[in-house]
Amino acid sequence: MLASDWSRAAAEIARAEAAGGDWLHLDVMDGHFVDNITFGPQFVAALRPHTRMDLDVHLMIERPDRYWRRFWEAGADGITVHVEADHDCHETLAAIRSTGRRAGLAISPDTPFEAVLPYLAEIDLLLVMTVRPGFGGQAFMGAETMPKVAAARRHREDHGLAYHIEVDGGIDAETCHVAAGHGANVLVAGTALFRAPDMADAIRSMRQVQEIL
Ligand code: ZN
Repeated sequence: MLASDWSRAAAEIARAEAAGGDWLHLDVMDGHFVDNITFGPQFVAALRPHTRMDLDVHLMIERPDRYWRRFWEAGADGITVHVEADHDCHETLAAIRSTGRRAGLAISPDTPFEAVLPYLAEIDLLLVMTVRPGFGGQAFMGAETMPKVAAARRHREDHGLAYHIEVDGGIDAETCHVAAGHGANVLVAGTALFRAPDMADAIRSMRQVQEIL
């Protein structure tokens, strides 16, 4: 959503859904956790009636424990909070999960994989940030982040877990191969889809990558 034309939000969502998008990824930034501000729960609630796509809300905010419920009320299907944020991760994840929606945990590029280890049995999704959180349109940081995707896949297999592995940041027609090859099964793409000459084509080719691997 970050890369879409916000002045025409409903039309942009309809375009993404018609092009074959499964999930709509919504980046919430509070000006504290990251040096940028986007939107809050009212915007998510405004979008909800315009699509049947899964609303995948990524909270890049300092106190997700205080605000996640408002996004749940707004109609989010999944809520992802950062391991680096100022909250009790066990408690926040358990509370999100108790609503029956998807509970996600995100890790920034500079944070070691070990930081998320205590929570992996309690989540439905691990979001490995492939750029530093805060702005769209950045270059993919493969060297720093792909070992984490591979470690997450290994850990999931070793422990019989079932969480999704999502990558977010700099995902395009080339980097999606790299991420899927290391084990990512949810690919968040902004600029590469909303600015593509043909969004349906771009989504189709990204989907094929996952089917091949
Ligand atoms: Zn995101």
